Amino acid sequence: MNPQLRKPVIAGNWKMYKTIAETEAFFTGIAPLVAGPSHADIVIAPPFTALRRAVELGAPIGIGISAQDLHWEKEGAFTGEISAAMLRDAGCRYTLIGHSERRQFFGETDQSVNKKLKAALGAGLIPIVCVGETLAEREAGQTEAVLDRQLTQGLAGLTEAAFSPIIIAYEPVWAIGTGRTATPEIAQQAHAFIRNRVGGTISPAAAQRLRILYGGSVKPDNIAGLMAQPDLDGALVGGASLDPHAFADIVRFDRKR
Ligand code: PEP
Repeated sequence: MNPQLRKPVIAGNWKMYKTIAETEAFFTGIAPLVAGPSHADIVIAPPFTALRRAVELGAPIGIGISAQDLHWEKEGAFTGEISAAMLRDAGCRYTLIGHSERRQFFGETDQSVNKKLKAALGAGLIPIVCVGETLAEREAGQTEAVLDRQLTQGLAGLTEAAFSPIIIAYEPVWAIGTGRTATPEIAQQAHAFIRNRVGGTISPAAAQRLRILYGGSVKPDNIAGLMAQPDLDGALVGGASLDPHAFADIVRFDRKR
């Protein structure tokens, strides 16, 4: 991590968990634990139904709110979908795009990632674009080819200026929700590949500024080892973000507990 150049980001993805009452309980629990200035940007991605309440409760304690997905059109006959402008209207500052669960279960492709990315940027949302290989792809030695394809197609057609707010999350699918975290060395290798790849296609300066998060079974007891790697700039946390104490411990990875 290079804190001078890249402020860390610790983001929690709640997936399809938490009602509004549970959201309120989470923010009540975490507020005293993250009070005051933070060395990291702290982000929570609740389900759509809890977004507005999370925005209200997150703002006073410096927690930015993210959507988990969006549609690329501005509005229209797209039953069940939500636009970037609607997310901004609800107070969101970030959105996840291309999470592996969207890719696996809901037909997300590199092409739809690219359209969503441009819609998010156009509305002033900070996109957190998720990439990562499956276990079969890693075992077949295809990790870099998969990342290369996801980055080439997902980030296609962006100028350096348009690219600048983007955050990338490297989330090996085999590590998500499995308790099987990538070793810091495996994560570092993938992060360095991603940074290098962005250096070649966008610009070396953009690559140096790019914040790359690791996701996949991040917990309070493995965050420090991951964050010690030079190309890891934060974490996207699923399961452990549901508990305010565990998530706060991850946010405060720089402190001895
Ligand atoms: C995720 O949902 O992006 C994730 C990394 O989940 P978990 O931390 O539970 O593996």
